[in-house]
Amino acid sequence: MKFEDLGLGDKLLKAVMDCGYESPTPIQAQAIPPVLMTRDLIGVAQTGTGKTAGFTLPMIEILSTGRARARMPRSLVLAPTRELAAQVAENFDMYGKYLNLTQALLVGGESVAEQQKQLEKGVDVLIATPGRLLDLFDRGAILLNDIKIVVIDEADRMLDMGFIPDIEKIFSVLPPMRQTLLFSATMPDAIRKLADRFLQNPKHVSVAPPASPAKTVEQFVSHCKPQDKKRLLKKLIEDENVKNAFIFCNRKRDVDDVAKWLSRQGLSAEALHGDMHQTVRYEKLDAFKDDKVRLLVCSDVAARGLDVQGLSHVFNYDVPFNADDYVHRIGRTGRAGMKGRAFTLVAGDDQKHLDAVEKLIGKALETVDPFSSQAKDQKSSSSSSSKKKNNDSNSRNSSSGSAPKPRNQNKRGKPQQSRQENSGKDVVGFGDDIPSFLR
Ligand code: AMP
Repeated sequence: MKFEDLGLGDKLLKAVMDCGYESPTPIQAQAIPPVLMTRDLIGVAQTGTGKTAGFTLPMIEILSTGRARARMPRSLVLAPTRELAAQVAENFDMYGKYLNLTQALLVGGESVAEQQKQLEKGVDVLIATPGRLLDLFDRGAILLNDIKIVVIDEADRMLDMGFIPDIEKIFSVLPPMRQTLLFSATMPDAIRKLADRFLQNPKHVSVAPPASPAKTVEQFVSHCKPQDKKRLLKKLIEDENVKNAFIFCNRKRDVDDVAKWLSRQGLSAEALHGDMHQTVRYEKLDAFKDDKVRLLVCSDVAARGLDVQGLSHVFNYDVPFNADDYVHRIGRTGRAGMKGRAFTLVAGDDQKHLDAVEKLIGKALETVDPFSSQAKDQKSSSSSSSKKKNNDSNSRNSSSGSAPKPRNQNKRGKPQQSRQENSGKDVVGFGDDIPSFLR
């Protein structure tokens, strides 16, 4: 399949070629033709599959004829986070550069007055988070009765973030004659019901079974005691050839704490979470994308939908509370066919969340122990309760076994010292900061 076969106009094709894309991704090949035929569509696709272009390209084509009136946008994309909304806007800029479409980005944390001014001029594409859209709608700054196409992006995340009532409210004021597209990485029941209510005879397209991580991501778990997590993280970062990484924490306070700790250890790290001002978030992201920062410690909300080309690693400092988030997190790496590696730290309470993750993805994750002499891989069968009890000691203490060596072993050509050779403060690489389990 070629882009030329999808029914897109010359200006769009030229913009796509400028991006260097050789052929449409599977979700694009499946979604673009029915969307161009004005069908409603449900797309089950993870981030990294090219799904954003799967809806922005045909939308631009459809909207390329016609004109927007003041305060009456012609299309609407709803995204769960500011970052994801900004990324969708970037896609519209990138692919629509040879066409004269106007767009507005309505997200929290930015000046309402400025957004109102943009709306006054008339916009073809409105990209918004639900809260800010309703805010402006309630102020009378916007009318939604001219919306021809509406997209709900990352619908499962909207659900997780409690946005479904907002979405219902928004749909209650949209015109019934419209085209509706819904994209989601997973299809929980609540999203299915939402789709039943708001989409008409939708075409279903799916590029990966729900909640299956991209095959391009190698996944590992590493066990430790809660108090040793930071040092385990540092060790993993040191052993891996980390070009750049997202480090996910479940709690905002840990995001700040881990970022500060890593910085104190001389590593290039910044924190990113939802409580930060939008300008600061953009600045940090830009620094990360420009390779000025190597490690971005973030919360799920802040990192949702972030697209960083060529991210080499994802570290889960905590196993996410919600198993779906695991798939989203590790999907930040291994994008667009590139290889990526994901490591999940497991301590204390994390085990039960790991069980949920393994159940969801249908396999046990490989265990690595960067502190053992062999740094062996072990097949972790965390669903078995006996294994669960012994998990920490198994992964940390055993020095024999038949599992293959993890790739990071000797990666940098350094001889690895065994625990037996290193007791007390001589443990290589830790100085006075020896993890308690090595003492
Ligand atoms: P998405 O899943 O929409 O977040 O897209 C993931 C990445 O894939 C983005 O960096 C896009 O620029 C890139 N991408 C989108 N379509 C293609 C394509 N047809 N070929 C190569 N890369 C693409």
